[in-house]
Amino acid sequence: MNEGSEKIPRLAEALDGKSPAEIISTVAERFPGRIALACSFGAEDCVLVDVVARARLAVDVFTLDTGFLFAETYALWTRLEERYEIRIRSLKTDLPVVEPGLPPPWERDPDACCDARKVQPLRAELARLGAWVTGIRRDQTPDRANAHVVEWDARFGLVKVNPLAAWTSEQVWDHVRRFDVPTNPLHAQGYVSIGCAPCTTPVKPGEDPRAGRWRGREKTECGLHTGTRAPPGEPRWR
Ligand code: SF4
Repeated sequence: MNEGSEKIPRLAEALDGKSPAEIISTVAERFPGRIALACSFGAEDCVLVDVVARARLAVDVFTLDTGFLFAETYALWTRLEERYEIRIRSLKTDLPVVEPGLPPPWERDPDACCDARKVQPLRAELARLGAWVTGIRRDQTPDRANAHVVEWDARFGLVKVNPLAAWTSEQVWDHVRRFDVPTNPLHAQGYVSIGCAPCTTPVKPGEDPRAGRWRGREKTECGLHTGTRAPPGEPRWR
């Protein structure tokens, strides 16, 4: 099918309510060899690794390795690769992890740190792709509340697939239990959203699920999923 023959909103409407495997496979058919799942090892991403691997979907999997992940996260990376017999490719910056004589980068300027270690490696990877798959859900943050299962990513210039957009946290954990999906043991210690070790703390009962990310700062996103949605009416499928 010609990529330009169908508008993304129409496809998003048609796929809304379908299973994650159906959503991903439908888009993957349109972008053979040019679709990848971005895995940051949250429970949602582990579910999507499970979906892609069990359905044998032709979707590459990569992660952004900032060098600052928890030891438990690196161990989960290995467990997922072994369990599903897949490779999760590492994308990383050439910047040194620690610069002698300077405070650590997450203290100096966390936005610049995220930009160099996450956004720029992601931008380079997405430049070669036609579609990327993410684990974002509408109820995670106000910015994600309008996410569609398929949408045009205006910031990075490709199709963005959010197969779990309509899922709740309960649905994610039901899937984890049902299929015995490996997840990060830190979740059991109060870590809900898990990013880099220096910028992630557990959350207390009743706190916002992402309250543990960059605690004490106004920052709530690393910049991978902000400002990506095309304005209404803009042609999005090309
Ligand atoms: Fe740096 Fe923290 Fe962003 Fe990780 S989450 S890239 S350590 S600022």
